[in-house]
Amino acid sequence: MGVEDLQIIMAESLKSALKEISENKDATIIANGTDMMPRIRDEGLKVEKILDISALDKELSYINVDSNLIRIGAMTTVSEIGSSNVFNGSLNAFYEVVSKFGGPQIRNRATIGGNICSATSSEDFIPLLMALDASVVLQSVNGKRTLKLNNFVIGKRSVNRRNDEIMVEVQFSKPGDDYLSGFEKIGRRNILIINLINMAIVMSLKQRRVNDVRIALNRVSGKVPGRARLTEGFLNGKEIDGNIISSAREKLAEELKLSSDFRASADYRIHLAQAILEKLLNRFREGV
Ligand SMILES: Cc1cc2nc3c(=O)[nH]c(=O)nc-3n(C[C@H](O)[C@H](O)[C@H](O)COP(=O)(O)OP(=O)(O)OC[C@H]3O[C@@H](n4cnc5c(N)ncnc54)[C@H](O)[C@@H]3O)c2cc1C
Repeated sequence: MGVEDLQIIMAESLKSALKEISENKDATIIANGTDMMPRIRDEGLKVEKILDISALDKELSYINVDSNLIRIGAMTTVSEIGSSNVFNGSLNAFYEVVSKFGGPQIRNRATIGGNICSATSSEDFIPLLMALDASVVLQSVNGKRTLKLNNFVIGKRSVNRRNDEIMVEVQFSKPGDDYLSGFEKIGRRNILIINLINMAIVMSLKQRRVNDVRIALNRVSGKVPGRARLTEGFLNGKEIDGNIISSAREKLAEELKLSSDFRASADYRIHLAQAILEKLLNRFREGV
């Protein structure tokens, strides 16, 4: 099948997109295409029907704060997140994700909805949003449903989306002002990194004591992102010092069930994850 046989449906509004996807459940959704286009063009991914939702930026590009709930529209780009002041203070890790994300052209196009729905271990917003216990909002012609992100992203390129649904929003509660957040990733080069491992941590420190720590990585078991619950449990309530950080590193190695691939061995990835954990905890210890 050549490109000339490709059926492209252009949605002009959310309402028309929902109608189209309900009538064309076999269509592949494309937002701004930074993940999909290289897969079709370079990797030979076969698609016969595309629902192009890029025009939905008029309705789904927003960052709203409703009392304590932060709501980010699915078509919001990485650049728009980087230029918003909503993420100052306890949500500073958003700016860290943005500053390490692709190059300027990609940041101007890549959407947060596309990042989540791509659902690979290369997607940098997923761990941060998991550390924030975020939920996604999915909409179909029959209405909306809200799902915790960890129940939505269930495997590599596997999400819990019904084929008549469009992801319209991601939302989470803003952590209090006593919370700190951080994000780090390590790849094989410094720019345009496909990460080997990434990690986000959100936590509060009360009199140097760890409180409500949430640690999420792009890989916890195999290639599936998730929370490092054992390490979180170990750290919670402890006064943070060099010995505790060193024991937390060991806990993390205990709970990560990774596999080796052509980019890195499992042991090397675990070593990198331990290094990031130590770096972020030391940073928080110094109050930054
Ligand atoms: C050179 C380069 C560098 C990159 N660097 C990074 C990086 O540093 N960090 C990083 O995390 N990613 C990176 N990416 C990956 C990519 O840019 C992101 O995943 C991006 O956020 C995807 O958004 P998009 O709008 O382009 O999605 P698209 O490519 O349009 O779609 C991606 C997937 O999500 C689905 N989808 C999109 N929107 C919706 C929706 N609203 N509802 C349901 N399904 C939807 C599509 O069906 C598709 O499966 C890079 C890509 C390139 C090409």
